[in-house]
Amino acid sequence: MVLVYGEPIKRWSCEFAECGARCCKAGREVKIGDIKRIASGTGLAPEEFLESLENKGGLFHLKGKEDRCTFLADDLSCSLHEKGLKPIFCQMYPFKFDGIIYADDLILKVRVTKDCPNIGTGKKLTEDFEISIEALGNRFLRDIEDFKRFKSEGKDFKEILKSL
Ligand code: SF4
Ligand code: SF4
Repeated sequence: MVLVYGEPIKRWSCEFAECGARCCKAGREVKIGDIKRIASGTGLAPEEFLESLENKGGLFHLKGKEDRCTFLADDLSCSLHEKGLKPIFCQMYPFKFDGIIYADDLILKVRVTKDCPNIGTGKKLTEDFEISIEALGNRFLRDIEDFKRFKSEGKDFKEILKSL
């Protein structure tokens, strides 16, 4: 289940070159499916782009350089975007991660970011946008659930990556 906090957004578009890619900071939340796609698509080992390989209930974080995301290119574009490798939470912007409730059924909390200057301007958003955010959020949760299941079977991080 995905809980969305904040006022509905009527208009938004991402103009990263204008805002200086403000939201592409170090520490973006990723889960095992993102890690698998990025590692397979870039040839990088997970330890090269993750802050830590420690299990945090299936939630991991991207490394940064000087507080910017490690995948931010010099022209402020995302070097994963063209390759179709962007993490789910980057695809969910301008909704940002706000926590997971580890109940019987996992609940993902997301919130409209306050950092994006383009909220309320740009492209008119339709109902499809909200549906796509919910679908992405549910994909995120499925990966967290898979990770927890693999862990309960005694698999370590590398075994879980291979299982996907
Ligand atoms: S989502 Fe908003 S803050 Fe982030 S890069 Fe796009 S315009 Fe900038
Ligand atoms: S992976 Fe790409 S879109 Fe996501 S925070 Fe990093 S540079 Fe930005």
